[in-house]
Amino acid sequence: MNKKLNELKKWLKETKTDCVLINDPENIAYYSGYKSDPHERISALVAFPFADPFLFTPSLEVNDAENSEWSFSVYGYLDNESPWSIISTKIQEIIVGTNRFAIEKAFLTVERYEMLLYFFENSQFINISEKIQEMKLIKNPDEINRMIEAGKWADKALEIGFNSIKEGISEEEIVAEIEYQLKKQGIKEMSFETMVLAGDHAASPHGIPGSRKVKKNDMVLFDLGVVCNGYTSDVTRTAIFGKPSIEAEKIYSVVLKAHQAAIAAVEPGVTAGQLDEIARDIITKEGYGDYFTHRLGHGLGSNVHEHPSIMKDSELIIKEGMCFSIEPGIYVPEVAGVRIEDCLYVTKNGCELFTKTSTAFQSII
Ligand code: MN
Ligand code: MN
Repeated sequence: MNKKLNELKKWLKETKTDCVLINDPENIAYYSGYKSDPHERISALVAFPFADPFLFTPSLEVNDAENSEWSFSVYGYLDNESPWSIISTKIQEIIVGTNRFAIEKAFLTVERYEMLLYFFENSQFINISEKIQEMKLIKNPDEINRMIEAGKWADKALEIGFNSIKEGISEEEIVAEIEYQLKKQGIKEMSFETMVLAGDHAASPHGIPGSRKVKKNDMVLFDLGVVCNGYTSDVTRTAIFGKPSIEAEKIYSVVLKAHQAAIAAVEPGVTAGQLDEIARDIITKEGYGDYFTHRLGHGLGSNVHEHPSIMKDSELIIKEGMCFSIEPGIYVPEVAGVRIEDCLYVTKNGCELFTKTSTAFQSII
């Protein structure tokens, strides 16, 4: 964690910024190792170029924050106190006459910004959101290890899901089975709401699992992820139950070909746009271009959706340490929906996948 705080300090020095206030709970966790959901209350991480940072949390969280990975001061406020008055006093104990103040313009609400304006009326407010995004792009070995662990749990979740498929079981029952088994094994949180879509329901890329029951010869799409030590995983497999139609099998083979070709092309120096193009060309040449309705992939880390975006025309250059998904899909209404997704980290000359579940077109019964 200290490495990240040091980089933040370095940025403050370079940009001659006197103070930064980070209040997105995800970003507080990224720099401090302390994760919480303060709901409508405010939490903040405040850092300076030449002094120690501090955490500011509701009083009821102070103990938890002090017992986390965070090794600097933690200040609290009670529900009947004004958090902004306390936080501004604490900041003014360290710096006097602040004139350059960094905030997360992509996250701080107007109401909160107005409070800062009130207490720091002569300050200039600059944006740190883009710098944070940029820092999060390259993962260090500790973060990658956490994501490897999260990937193993995602494989485990798929295994539980595949084993629970039988004729007549509903999508939501399969979701319940996966999450129950994981919770019993100590997993506290999924990366997002687990998705299980059976048959033609899978033709909706963001469908919501419901009471639809699995029938013989259905394909069942699973998209899920597990949070492990603050880091996420994300994987999609389309399980085969019986013998799907010839067109469904064709769609599956095209998606798999696009998935494999894109992964084989990942290496430092290639652009995000080139990766998208490799997968999209394969799908388009087979006549399904109009049915691949989303970008090829997205970055992930402590958040399940982060930069980079692996999309058409992006000139972003892929570098060692970046982590992202490759997830081509074809969704033909009333016929079939297939997506195959793995997340990976970029190595010196290629990439390694976080998830290992087979992608072969193989019936599970
Ligand atoms: Mn994804
Ligand atoms: Mn996914």
